[in-house]
Amino acid sequence: MNVRTKKRFDQNPCRFIVKTLKDYVKTSPKNRLEAFDGAPIFDAPLVGFADGDDPIFMDYKKVVHEKHFTPRDVLMKHLVETKHIASPDLPHISVISFVLPIAEETRLSNARETKGPSLRWNHTRWHGQDFINELSAHLVSVLEDAGFEAIAPETSSFFRIFTLPDGFASNWSQRHMAYAAGLGTFSLNEGFITKKGLTMRCSSVVANIRLEPSKRIFAHHLANCSFYAEGQCGVCIKRCPYGAISEKGHDKLKCVNALFEKQRPWIDGAHGPGYIGQYAGCGLCQTGVPCESRIPVRKHSASALKSC
Ligand code: SF4
Ligand code: SF4
Repeated sequence: MNVRTKKRFDQNPCRFIVKTLKDYVKTSPKNRLEAFDGAPIFDAPLVGFADGDDPIFMDYKKVVHEKHFTPRDVLMKHLVETKHIASPDLPHISVISFVLPIAEETRLSNARETKGPSLRWNHTRWHGQDFINELSAHLVSVLEDAGFEAIAPETSSFFRIFTLPDGFASNWSQRHMAYAAGLGTFSLNEGFITKKGLTMRCSSVVANIRLEPSKRIFAHHLANCSFYAEGQCGVCIKRCPYGAISEKGHDKLKCVNALFEKQRPWIDGAHGPGYIGQYAGCGLCQTGVPCESRIPVRKHSASALKSC
């Protein structure tokens, strides 16, 4: 990073980081669906910041998994075990969370499906993940270039997924990071509803930098889902052809069974050639629903949403 760029970074690191992410999403050839005329995979990102020592991260050890990392845990582990720094001094830690809304054409193609994902959705699932990993690595390198230590926990060697009696949990939940950074709330189908809806993927980076935390403007952790906020909706219940969503919530085991067993024919070519990945991707409960690309709850005021 040259002196001029570093000066711009120091003047307003939050703005610099947001621009870095937006520029990369806009210009990277990896954010493209080759099989669909090079159309963009994701629209411009939403970006939020959280104080890495916010007490909410200790709560995640109870609500996600006892081994869920705090930002301090994971950055410390990275510095001690990977970079071999004996006693890192970390006066400030921040989480940078970013949400990548899925392009409209892809959303619409999946909304037309009733039993399994569109080809376009399937390619977005897998090529989109490759792009997110690359974007996260790019942000880490920009922060390191600016003189900070940084890690993208999900792509680090410390990332783990645990099998539980009722499904799965990881030691770094991206949606919980997005919640801490004020980007949205959870939903009946166990998605995450942002102001661009729940058809999105998200990632995060932790760094030893002080960034102004984003406000969490929503009333509670389920406030953007009409089912919890207004006692109505439940469209996602009907959208799931495999009975994995009910008024009690999302049955992870049924969902995983659908992904790996019931939708196997999509990967095997029974619904046309070209499907890729370990599983087809589904996402039916995220498309053709009122929260697909917006917050459906009527009582949020427009001015509150602007500040998100
Ligand atoms: S479809 Fe309705 S009930 Fe389901 S997650 Fe969206 S807002 Fe909530
Ligand atoms: S991803 Fe598919 S199988 Fe899983 S809950 Fe949603 S619609 Fe059902």
